[in-house]
Amino acid sequence: MADTDLRPEPFVSFVCKVASRCNLNCDYCYVYQHADQSWRQQPLRMSTSTAAQLGRRINEHAVAHRLDQVDVILHGGEPLLLGVRYLRKLCEAVADNTPDVAIRWNGQTNGTAYTDEVLAFCREWDISFGLSIDGPRADNDRHRLDHSGRSLFDEVERAAALLGSAEGRPLWGGVLAVVDLAADPVATYSYLRSLHPPSIDFLLPLGHHDAPPPGKKGAPDGTPYADWLLRIFDLWYHERPQPIRIRRFRDIIALYLGATHSSEEWGLQPVDFIVVEANGEIQAVDTLKVTYPGACDLGMNIFEESFDQALRSAPVQSRQHSWQTLSDTCQSCDLVRICGGGYFPHRYSQENGFRNPSVYCADLKKLIRTVTGRVGHDLRKLPGHPGRDT
Ligand code: SF4
Repeated sequence: MADTDLRPEPFVSFVCKVASRCNLNCDYCYVYQHADQSWRQQPLRMSTSTAAQLGRRINEHAVAHRLDQVDVILHGGEPLLLGVRYLRKLCEAVADNTPDVAIRWNGQTNGTAYTDEVLAFCREWDISFGLSIDGPRADNDRHRLDHSGRSLFDEVERAAALLGSAEGRPLWGGVLAVVDLAADPVATYSYLRSLHPPSIDFLLPLGHHDAPPPGKKGAPDGTPYADWLLRIFDLWYHERPQPIRIRRFRDIIALYLGATHSSEEWGLQPVDFIVVEANGEIQAVDTLKVTYPGACDLGMNIFEESFDQALRSAPVQSRQHSWQTLSDTCQSCDLVRICGGGYFPHRYSQENGFRNPSVYCADLKKLIRTVTGRVGHDLRKLPGHPGRDT
C-alpha cells in the first residue's frame, strides 16, 4: 500500500492562538506542562494587525486552491480571556481581509469565561465553541485547577448550561474530555451525557515512548485505555436513539465501513490544518510540543511566508504523505487503514523520531478489533448480507 496521490492538500482549518496564556493550570496541558516552553516568548494576545495579515494569508490560500469556505478556530491558551470587545476586533480584522472565502468560526474554551455576553457575541458571529471538561467535579478537578489550586468547576458548569440552552446549542461544538484511568468510565460518560452536548471527544493523554502516559510506563502491552473506553462503547453502542456522537467510536466505524477521512487521530488522510501563533508564527501540529522543544517550528511567519510555502515545507509534506512516515511495523499491520499508526505525537521516541507504532498501539488494536468486531457481527445479521449469520 502506498500513497498514490502526492499532490498537497490545501489547509482548510486554521488554528489561531489568539491568546497565549490560560487561567487554568491543567497538569497535562501540552502548551505549558511539557518539553516546549515557547509560549513564554509569545505576546499575551494576537494583535489586530496580525489578525489582518492572517486574513490576507487565508484569503490568498483560499483563492489559490479555490476553497469556498475554511474554518478559523479561536484557540489558545484560553481565547475568551481576551474579552468580547477585543475578540470582535480580531474577528473583524480577519473578516475584512477575507473577501473571497466564507469563514466558519469555531473555538475551544475551558468554559470559565463563557458568559451570557460571550453567547450573545457567538450568536452574532455564528461562532461555535467546544468545551473542555473531563467529567464530574471530583474527576475534572483532579487535573483542571487554576494557578492557585482553586476549582473553577462552577463556572465550567455554567458554560455547559449556556451552551446546552436553546440559544447555545446550535453553537456548541461538543465536549473535549481527556481520559483519566482514575475516573470511573461509566460515571464519566453518564455525567457528560447529562450535559446534553452534541458530541464527546475522549482524548488519550499526550505521551510518547520516552514519556509514557499514565498506566503505560513499563507496560506497553497493557490495554487500560481500550478497556476504559470500551466500557463506554458498550453503553453508547446500544443507545437508541443515539443523541451523542462519540467521535472516537464513530471514526473507527466510518473507517471500517470504507470512509477515507476522519479526525486527525485516525486514518491515513493528509493533515489539513495549520497553527498560527499569537505573533504570527506558522507552526505544525501544536500537540507536538510534548515531544521536544521546537518540534512544531516551521521557521515561518505569516508576515514573511504564505500558507502555500508552509504547505511545501518538509515537516508538513511528511504529514501529508502519511504512509511514508509510518514505522515498518505499522506499514505491515492489518489495522493500519483504520489506525493510521496512531496520533503523531504518540509515536515519538528520541531514538526513532516518529517512526514508531503509537505508544497506545496495544490499546488501539484492542479498541479497533472490538468495535469493528461488534459492528461486523451486527452487519452480518442484516437481511441480504452475503455473510449473514444463520
Ligand atoms: S499503531 Fe499499532 S495498531 Fe496502529 S497501525 Fe501501528 S501497529 Fe497497527
